[in-house]
Amino acid sequence: MIKNRKSLEEYKAGILEENRAILAQAITLVESNLSTDSELASSLVQEILPFSGNSIRIGITGVPGVGKSTFIEAFGKMLLEKGKKVAVLAVDPSSQKTKGSILGDKTRMEKLAADRRAFIRPSPSGSTLGGVSAKTREAMLLCEAAGYDVILVETVGVGQSETAVKGMVDFFLLLMLPGAGDELQGIKKGIMEMADGVLINKADGENIQAAKKAKTQYRNALHLFPPSENGWYPSVITGSSLTGEGLDECWEMVEKYQEKMLDSGYFELNRAEQRLRWLDEYVQYLLGKAFHEQAKVQNLLASEREHVKEGKISPLTFARKLVNVFFENFQIKNS
Ligand code: GDP
Repeated sequence: MIKNRKSLEEYKAGILEENRAILAQAITLVESNLSTDSELASSLVQEILPFSGNSIRIGITGVPGVGKSTFIEAFGKMLLEKGKKVAVLAVDPSSQKTKGSILGDKTRMEKLAADRRAFIRPSPSGSTLGGVSAKTREAMLLCEAAGYDVILVETVGVGQSETAVKGMVDFFLLLMLPGAGDELQGIKKGIMEMADGVLINKADGENIQAAKKAKTQYRNALHLFPPSENGWYPSVITGSSLTGEGLDECWEMVEKYQEKMLDSGYFELNRAEQRLRWLDEYVQYLLGKAFHEQAKVQNLLASEREHVKEGKISPLTFARKLVNVFFENFQIKNS
């Protein structure tokens, strides 16, 4: 066993005792790519499953610079004052390129991190999106078992990670800048459509008028979208993490949403569907991992990949050959 690894019982007990250090170690375990860790990690997640789920999961997105981490710090502190326990996780598939643009810098959210009732976890690095989002979900369950009742999942609003985050949260919040006119600040229409709530951030000082105008514009824009299947119309509010304006209103919006969705049954339905998608993603992820780890596949790829590149073998023909080789070898190994 690897150094610093605990037993299943030690992890479980530590998490249920709400021990932040052990929770952090347990998340490291589930984020590990080592095959020696994966069995312990999946047993742990299974063990704590009955203690998970009792939270509201909120995804937070917006372009870099919109104020996500400042908002999370201010919003998180307000939630602590309301007696909540707050965990912050991140999904950032681009962190390799941007050198950890979100939550990577340890100085961010210092005040929130200092509070015992808050838990902040930077994004796992060096993985594909599939791997990252899967691990963030596991981390979320561990946090819930450790008593965190508000889970904030941060993502950068520029790529595919929004879809992954939308698929793991109950409420999806989009942060926007005031004064951006009607062009949507590089936020794709698809991301607007995913939002359950929009917060026009930095509505302070000189920005107040522009923020009000933006609010009207986004409200109008959102009304052009067809209503979502749960019957919820996304709310648009203004706020400032510097003055604290709008933070209460933002929480009220989330609470109202949760209440309505619990009443209609959508809340649980959405989570149930998410679990099934999570299963599908895991099957794909594990198959892909086993495939690429297999020596026979690696050898064949090394020797013949160039032929595909040069156009001598069709990608489909070669893919079929690879998959056949994988299964032949897999059966031999397991017989
Ligand atoms: P992120 O990249 O989305 O996480 O953005 P940051 O939280 O790092 O904020 C980017 C910049 O905007 C920083 O200089 C913040 O001080 C500033 N900022 C964040 N929130 C507000 C706000 O509510 N009002 C104003 N005026 N500035 C803000």
